[in-house]
Amino acid sequence: MVKRLVFIILLIGAVVAGVLIYRSMTPRGARSNHVWDFFANPDSHADWKLTPGTRCGGAPFVFPTDGMVGFLWDDSFRVGHRHQGIDIFSGTEVGVTPVFAAYDGYLTRLPDWKSSVIQRVPDDPLQPGRQIWLYYTHMADQNGNSYIVADFPPGAKEVFVAAGTLLGYQGNYSGDPNSPTGIHLHFSVVRDDGNGNFLNELDIRNTYDPSPYLGLSLNANTADGEVPLCQTPAP
Ligand SMILES: [Zn+2]
Repeated sequence: MVKRLVFIILLIGAVVAGVLIYRSMTPRGARSNHVWDFFANPDSHADWKLTPGTRCGGAPFVFPTDGMVGFLWDDSFRVGHRHQGIDIFSGTEVGVTPVFAAYDGYLTRLPDWKSSVIQRVPDDPLQPGRQIWLYYTHMADQNGNSYIVADFPPGAKEVFVAAGTLLGYQGNYSGDPNSPTGIHLHFSVVRDDGNGNFLNELDIRNTYDPSPYLGLSLNANTADGEVPLCQTPAP
């Protein structure tokens, strides 16, 4: 009986170890490891960071904040989950690292949005005639104190902002004060419903692969495990 129990425990241990080793060998696993390495010592990985205003290759958007791209579009954080945007980690405290508009557009902040804004781009630079939306979130502290600049109060609607306009600062708001996220900007490119409204950003099917907009390899299905940088071949 005891022998059998020991065997089962060893078996479970071997399976867990196998999964961890396998994960660390995949691009997705490598990305997770890079994020933990960066959190542990951001200063030693300064070469992983992109600076705001950077435009990679001939891409239409400028990079919206300072930091490393830790997680990509269609990364998975748990079974069944598909990440709808990219996560850019600054390695600083909350409320310090500025977030800027990636492109010209019209900014809206719904009345109950503490940490998010969305920007309407009437003419998709990659597909003229199509309207798209740029979503920026986590710009509040864990208690929901907003870091969005005063120019865009709750309820702000259709305010024109040029590329490079300051929108707010990276935070760690998750909706649950007891379980904040790591400090980052989540940025995504959201589909229009065809009637001039944005679709629900929480579903990846309502978003576009941001790679060609930023000139970076940001699609989890095709990216390697390295931190995306401008030098990577244009996607
Ligand atoms: Zn995210």
